[in-house]
Amino acid sequence: MGAGFSGIGLGIELRKAGITDFAILEAADDVGGVWHHNRYPGVAVDIPSTTYSYSFEPNPYWSRLFAPGDELAAYANHCADKYGVSPHVHPRTRVEAARYDGRNHRWVVETSRGILTARFLVSAVGPLDQPKYPDIPGLGTFDGPTVHTARWDPHVALAGKRIGVIGTGASSLQLIPEIAPAAERLTVFQRTPIWVIPKPNTDISPRMRELFAHAPVTQRVLRAVTSLLAEFVMTVGIAYHMRVPLFVRSMERTCLRHLRKQVADPEVRAKLTPAYALGCKRPSFSNTYLPAFDRANVELVTERILRVTTEGIVTAVADTAAGTVTETHRELDVLVLATGFKTMQLGVVPPFPVRGTAGVDAGQWWDEHGYQTYEGISTPLLPNFWLMNGPWSAAGPSWFSVIESGSRHIARCLNEARRRGATQVVVRQSAHDAYMRSMRAKARHTAFAQPSCIDSNSYYFDRRGEAPFVRPVSGPGLRRASRTFDLDHYEYTRSEPASSTTSRYTGRTRASNLWFQTLSPGTACND
Ligand code: NAP
Repeated sequence: MGAGFSGIGLGIELRKAGITDFAILEAADDVGGVWHHNRYPGVAVDIPSTTYSYSFEPNPYWSRLFAPGDELAAYANHCADKYGVSPHVHPRTRVEAARYDGRNHRWVVETSRGILTARFLVSAVGPLDQPKYPDIPGLGTFDGPTVHTARWDPHVALAGKRIGVIGTGASSLQLIPEIAPAAERLTVFQRTPIWVIPKPNTDISPRMRELFAHAPVTQRVLRAVTSLLAEFVMTVGIAYHMRVPLFVRSMERTCLRHLRKQVADPEVRAKLTPAYALGCKRPSFSNTYLPAFDRANVELVTERILRVTTEGIVTAVADTAAGTVTETHRELDVLVLATGFKTMQLGVVPPFPVRGTAGVDAGQWWDEHGYQTYEGISTPLLPNFWLMNGPWSAAGPSWFSVIESGSRHIARCLNEARRRGATQVVVRQSAHDAYMRSMRAKARHTAFAQPSCIDSNSYYFDRRGEAPFVRPVSGPGLRRASRTFDLDHYEYTRSEPASSTTSRYTGRTRASNLWFQTLSPGTACND
């Protein structure tokens, strides 16, 4: 489920393992995941592209070290085509629910196009998939266009308009310098400032690209350098922060110097200075975001938003001594929501009801008991099921480390099931519990254990205060685990008779041949 880089990466790994009887269901009309959906002005990757790509498919043609979003979307298409994954992809097929049929060892999947069954099911739905719309009174009443960065509408005119942007995360940081010059007035509503790291972005010249294309080893060397740096930041800065806090403190000093150099007005600078430690929430790179606040047509508003009206936004400042509240109404033509994504919460992990053994709904179980997995990828609750971006999975220099490790893990399980003639594979509770004990012990050393994180509004945390978004291990540790985890941590069984469990899709590789059972009105998968 999902044809972003995770689903494509898994498809490639399955084909390498000789498994071709699979279908990739994609809600959107094309592959690419976040890079298909996030089309706002200025969208770009904020990990060097040489690292943010499959290790086996270096792209010599990135135009910049931090490539723009459309190049990432094109790269996703290129990889899906080149490695024979595209014919497996079923666009415009939204999964709505899935239920495990424990008698026949198969999944029954309800989609927007009907029901299908499959022996094994993998959620490759990204962790930043569901746009978060802020819970602000009156939001739907605004007369002008309202657009979310994650669902950008390219037809919304911005030139010469009074634009309001709510949110100052990584998306806003890329958008603001792009739209500020053309706007009549740009009002940025900030609740929590973001740490901004100087961006070592460079153009990759046509000559350099030619060199990468003709001597791929040169690009591999560059990848090794950028991956080492990213790995250092992730491992020393996040995973083992409490053991080596000096690195984060020195990064903070670098960011504060950057802010001093880039913003002249001390009052604005104070507003842009984070009160939480670097690492509690996602920082980002930019050399153009901070100077935008020195522009005459840009205003940074840190007052609390009270409501959205038909014509703009009302904010409030309370004077506790005088017992008064002063309201200000700013008129706007366009409202941009740069308010991020829903992450570790019910309805997101997983994004639709997934009922495993004895009908237990995994999302509800996790919501009640905390997010838990084995190796960030499987759970005893869900036989024959893996999550490519599950809780406690993200480690290493980029998402591609998680994707390649996760794909390898799944392919090893499937090969083992094939070798043993098993129709059901489920992780043992003991292995799962041991993994979670180790994760929770390691979590005490991460950057998320810093006391100031409590006030950071970080999407890395769930409602219990745990940070299951990240797996606190190094990249090499992640890769090693996927190659060497004990296959006996899973239990393999076979249903009788095996033939009754035949997959309901045809297994042919032409996408149009997927066999959907037509839904009769009112039929629910979990009935
Ligand atoms: P985000 O980091 O979650 O930022 C959302 C912003 O909206 C925050 O400033 C948040 O304030 C604000 N906000 C949310 N609800 C609000 C409300 N009710 N009232 C006022 N403000 C509100 O989201 P994002 O900027 O879209 O970035 C999400 C992630 O996407 C990034 O961390 C990164 O992982 C990824 N991303 C990556 C790239 C890339 O180049 N690879 C680019 C863009 C994004 P609070 O902080 O106070 O909640």
